[in-house]
Amino acid sequence: MKTGINVEEIFAKNVFTMGKMKDYLPEAVFLEVKRVIDFGGELSLAAADVVARAMKEWAMENGATHYTHWFQPLTGITAEKHDSFVTHPDAEGRMLMEFSGKELIKGEPDASSFPSGGLRATFEARGYTAWDITSPAFLKEAASGVFLCIPTAFCSYTGEALDKKTPLLRSMEAISTQALRIVRLFGNYQASKVVPLVGAEQEYFLVEKEKYMKRPDLIFAGRTLFGAPAPKGQEMDDHYFGVIRERVGAYMKDLNEELWKMGVTAKTQHNEAAPAQHELAPIYETANIAVDHNQIVMETMKRIAVRHDLRCLLHEKPFAGVNGSGKHNNWSLGTDTGINLLDPGETPNENFQFLLVMACVIKAVDTHADLLRQSASDVGNDHRLGANEAPPAIISVFLGEQLEDVVRQLVETGEAMTCKAGGKLMTGVSTLPDLVKDATDRNRTSPFAFTGNKFEFRMAGSADSVASPNTTLNAIVAEAFCEAADILEAAPDFEAAMHGLIEQYFCEHQRIIFNGNGYSEEWVKEAARRGLPNLATMVEAVETLTFDKAVRLFERFGIYTKAELVANQEILYETYAKTINIEARTMIDMAAKQLIPAIIKYTGFLATTINQITNAGASPKVQQRLLNNIQDKLEIMQKAMEHLEDLERVAITITDRKEQAYFYKEQVTVAMEELRVPADELEMLVDRELWPLPTYADLMYEI
Ligand code: ADP
Ligand code: MG
Repeated sequence: MKTGINVEEIFAKNVFTMGKMKDYLPEAVFLEVKRVIDFGGELSLAAADVVARAMKEWAMENGATHYTHWFQPLTGITAEKHDSFVTHPDAEGRMLMEFSGKELIKGEPDASSFPSGGLRATFEARGYTAWDITSPAFLKEAASGVFLCIPTAFCSYTGEALDKKTPLLRSMEAISTQALRIVRLFGNYQASKVVPLVGAEQEYFLVEKEKYMKRPDLIFAGRTLFGAPAPKGQEMDDHYFGVIRERVGAYMKDLNEELWKMGVTAKTQHNEAAPAQHELAPIYETANIAVDHNQIVMETMKRIAVRHDLRCLLHEKPFAGVNGSGKHNNWSLGTDTGINLLDPGETPNENFQFLLVMACVIKAVDTHADLLRQSASDVGNDHRLGANEAPPAIISVFLGEQLEDVVRQLVETGEAMTCKAGGKLMTGVSTLPDLVKDATDRNRTSPFAFTGNKFEFRMAGSADSVASPNTTLNAIVAEAFCEAADILEAAPDFEAAMHGLIEQYFCEHQRIIFNGNGYSEEWVKEAARRGLPNLATMVEAVETLTFDKAVRLFERFGIYTKAELVANQEILYETYAKTINIEARTMIDMAAKQLIPAIIKYTGFLATTINQITNAGASPKVQQRLLNNIQDKLEIMQKAMEHLEDLERVAITITDRKEQAYFYKEQVTVAMEELRVPADELEMLVDRELWPLPTYADLMYEI
């Protein structure tokens, strides 16, 4: 059997690429489309009609019957409503499938069922989706058939963004405009735009479907709400980069194939630190396309898992005590002429454009550390950030040895005369080549690490869209560029002003630079001493969205209006409350209907045994001790469950969103933990045959 895949043949088979547009469109229309993609503006309706017809023709040749405006509402996932190309049959009853320019450019899903945070009352249901021409249309092959997906932005009747894509696109325009001002100052007149480039590494877990189906917590919450640790955890470090198991390998092969067909450049795959945890990384691309593609990656991961009788867990912390999942967001800035503004070159100390860009990024991250932290928060990520595995909840920047040294020189003397070089790594074995060494080692604990020619923002949650982190990054850096350009454009002596500014920014913002161990207790104290924000949870982080500083930033660059920020904040509070509410109810349900009955069954068995042993004239000491122990814990568990029920009743009556979110965080999540502790202890005591849930060992070691 031939199992190989011809990647060159299948790659982007299901994408309406520029190449396909060139083939399917008359030249004039193709050029118009290309111009809009490259330089913005609007497609004429006449051209849109031609594009729509061509798209439909191509889609139908590939078996499509439907199209959908594919968008990313504020739920953080994607939405689609399928319309077929079917029209009125003609007089003879023949079907002529159609798709018009109007249908391509604009859709009108009923907006009332998507979160709007008060931007749109339910009686004003109108919402529009608008084609994002810069992200290519593609075909999805699903059980429902093949359908054409048109990436779109989603706005209200009054033009407010109801999605994640619109602000992202706005932020991309802002950073392009401001970054161009910087490169112009350094004499670059060729570049006509600057594009944020993003590569999102995606972590995930796989579990067996059959076991998943036996766990209401996985089904309803996406994570285990109960579960004692397995005898073996990840202490042996034997899973990270370990040999990929056959079953997982078959899944990855299928996943890659599907992704390649949809134009996603799945590149790297490996086992991650925790058992049953894996990672997939695509090659970086323009930010909005990378965000779309990451959504496709997440959807496809779930879909292909079903095919393999597996389930893919994207939750940030599916298992307590085991590494959680994140999404490393690699970010850099490239001109349309191919220059990476974050490329230091051989001697960064002499590369002043690079140093200025770097100084601006440092300034931006220091000024808006709170917003950056917020952009990576979601409910699941609260279990991860600061929990000794993922980056801490405190934002800092890792620059690496070489750059740190350059910055030190700049701060101390006003100029950087020298630059540490990489050198050679001697392997000490004559048959192995000596390796050229990077000038900088890696640091795995920093939330925001410079890694050669890009920044790696490691805080994002595995289940979350990376739209917000990138929107925020673009916005804050655009602001820093703008402020630098304002000064430098007006300076009589550019060179002197530029040197001064680099030194000034590094001096003023050096507190954000940290090259040590971000997981350590000392860092938490040191960060507090430096005055860096430490926003431990999502609820605290969400507050920052409407601080004056944030409103000023986002309004100035046209990325969010204040009304949109308020709306986003409302939605996030609501999402937090709803999520914890579901988790708490699931716990109560499982405790009351599955765990407590199982424990009672076991205590009944022990009691009978005790009687039998006593009747037989022996002493049931061991059984009695066990029974007492279990009874004690069962009582604690029962009380904890009732307490959680009481709190739940209160929580749902709170009408103020923020107050409610805080109540869930401060009261309900604490009570959930109090219910979990005795339940997990009981799991260790009760007969395995009677325990109604697959254990951590079953879930993580048996696929
Ligand atoms: P790691 O060492 O973290 O595995 P890789 O070099 O494999 O890093 O890259 C991780 C991700 O970063 C990939 O998605 C890759 O395409 C992306 N990446 C590489 N260079 C850049 C860049 N200049 N800008 C943005 N992303 C990049
Ligand atoms: Mg990485």
